[in-house]
Amino acid sequence: MEVKTNVGKQKYIFVTGGVLSGVGKGITAASIGAILQAKGTKVSIQKCDPYLNVDAGLLNPKEHGECFVTKDGAETDLDLGHYERFLDLELTQKNATLSGALLSQLITDERAGKFHGQTIQLVPHLTGAIKDAIQLASEGSEVHIVEVGGTVGDYEGLSYVEAIREFASRVGRENCLYVHVVYVPFIQTSKEFKSKPAQNALNDLRGFGIVPDCVVVRTDDPAPVSIAMKIAAFSGVREDAVILLSNAKTVYEIPLTIDASGINAVLERFTGNTKKADLSKWRNIADAQAASFSQKVRIGMVAKYLDNEDTYLSVIEALKAAAWQEKVDLELVWINAEEAEVTDFERMDGLLVPGGFGGRGIEGKIRAATYALEMQKPYLGLCLGLQIAVIAAARKAGLKDANSTEFDPETKHDVVYIMEGQAGKESTGGTLRLGDYTAELIKGSQAAKAYGATEIIERHRHRYEVNQKYLQAIEKGGLTISGLSPDGKLVEYVEAKGNPFFVATQAHPEFKSRPYRPHPLFVGLIKAAAGQ
Ligand code: GLN
Repeated sequence: MEVKTNVGKQKYIFVTGGVLSGVGKGITAASIGAILQAKGTKVSIQKCDPYLNVDAGLLNPKEHGECFVTKDGAETDLDLGHYERFLDLELTQKNATLSGALLSQLITDERAGKFHGQTIQLVPHLTGAIKDAIQLASEGSEVHIVEVGGTVGDYEGLSYVEAIREFASRVGRENCLYVHVVYVPFIQTSKEFKSKPAQNALNDLRGFGIVPDCVVVRTDDPAPVSIAMKIAAFSGVREDAVILLSNAKTVYEIPLTIDASGINAVLERFTGNTKKADLSKWRNIADAQAASFSQKVRIGMVAKYLDNEDTYLSVIEALKAAAWQEKVDLELVWINAEEAEVTDFERMDGLLVPGGFGGRGIEGKIRAATYALEMQKPYLGLCLGLQIAVIAAARKAGLKDANSTEFDPETKHDVVYIMEGQAGKESTGGTLRLGDYTAELIKGSQAAKAYGATEIIERHRHRYEVNQKYLQAIEKGGLTISGLSPDGKLVEYVEAKGNPFFVATQAHPEFKSRPYRPHPLFVGLIKAAAGQ
């Protein structure tokens, strides 16, 4: 791989974890980036995931959280979504590095004879590929942040730990900052914080040849300074670089907390940039979150994975952001798609049917769309949510067994069907319509008004399409086609006239929403639900 070297100029921050995963390594990495950006530094960021999947496309969202899709169609871990929201970047495939992808490339190259008889090994070949991937992802930025998934010591992550250690020889140790995020539990019975697991985690990291420059100590409640001093003493890390961070009320407060913490001084020493960070956009969000507004808006999320925020993370973040902007309190109500009935929909100010795969809960979602069509209830349909609306409209028009062939392969009225060339690939990876596609909206449509534009680019992730043979029936059932692909072949947006806001899109607009710049379709739903 041809990699431009920028030795001496570019800086690298490596964020690793110890003790437990899931204590906010991704948010810490993204917040560090947000602070650097707020000081005027050009930042890039990358997630390295040690598991052996080639991408996140086939991972169970219930276990792993949402699959985040980039503009170039990479199916990635939800951390990329945090990065985009915190850093307002549009990331690509090179920002998500997975062992499965690197290994499969190595093996393909080996089979193609590209190694000229060498023995292919984890070190130096896999570690070399990791280092190249890091350098490639860092191109064009001043500081590149790399988060290594999992915890240090996990079998599958060892090549990454070795690669980031070796990386210092490639670019100079002074250009690398190693940040280790550890967890310190509070033991209820003895009423004390216990730093031993964190000490052991730091020993593990040292055992792999990395003495970190900064330790972020995560606790549930605020811990005494003595904990930081103890960890510093045992790990050989400067006292002022062991930073205690207790749980924040919300994730968007974390850039503020980190800026006010000792991490700021660590970053200043490392980059030489001592400008004060302009964090006003984060302060505004924190204020909006803390405020309580007089109006409450109840949005019913008709879904099959209940109370599972991670599965619909970007959708929920987009709803929250729209509510902050419109100054209303959002009450998110989970409606079990498998049992959803009219009585569930009546109580709502608006309904949302998110993306999804497979037949479970489909009839309840169709009942939700039918209710929205008949009762003028605000409705936002995302990807599957559009297909559902189309099925509901076709059934209303008299095609009683209208369905998607995804849920009923034998249906006589396949109003949603598989795209040409995709048949037979239903359970294989990388065969969906993925990433950015353009749509052209009808002037004056609800969608065009919400966007304030008629040429729209959104990210996609689907395999099925509206069958244009049924457009008449769909329109008779109460929907207008308000957006098509530029060649006119694919239905991208539908909406219901007479409803204050009923828009469904084949795309996933939630991926482009930002906490400080909510997506117009989510704003449209919240506004209509608030009766504005
Ligand atoms: N299952 C549908 C399809 O593949 C919808 C996908 C989605 O909602 N992301 O077309």
